[in-house]
Amino acid sequence: MGLLIRSSKIHAAGCYTTSPIRKGAQVVEYTGPRIGKREADARYRNSPTTYLFGVGDGSMVIDGHGTAMFINHSCDPNCETDERRGRIWIVALRDIAPGEELTYDYNLYDGDEDEACCFCGAACCRGTMYSPPEIQRRVRALARGKAASRRAQAESAAGKGPAGKRRRAAPGGR
Ligand SMILES: [Zn+2]
Repeated sequence: MGLLIRSSKIHAAGCYTTSPIRKGAQVVEYTGPRIGKREADARYRNSPTTYLFGVGDGSMVIDGHGTAMFINHSCDPNCETDERRGRIWIVALRDIAPGEELTYDYNLYDGDEDEACCFCGAACCRGTMYSPPEIQRRVRALARGKAASRRAQAESAAGKGPAGKRRRAAPGGR
């Protein structure tokens, strides 16, 4: 399968296919070193951009390194991610023609103040790369105010709740 990294209308650099891809094909693996959630939070505390992908129960993340980290988010994507025996694969949601940019839904979670705005241009764009459950969580957190946010931080320090740098998640898993 021929994949090419070049500039993208969606954001910075994107990943394009030079050959046709059939629906259901495993396109590329999301590769990179696996590190603990806490180490990732510490490493990227002040970084606006991360390429972290949550695996399993979310206690480990893949620190993206390789072709798949260049694939942009879209709210109307042509690929999805799937966790197969602990490995994350980018899988085609439909037939994809040569020259098309590959996209998947990042379903970001564990966001901090960052809005993670989306500019994918899809008719159904939800305006952010956060997952729908994460959007609801953030709205509720806003409503509860800062006290709740501090509590979430404390829970996170205890390894229970979400907080820290945003991460990507496969649907149904993290
Ligand atoms: Zn969008």
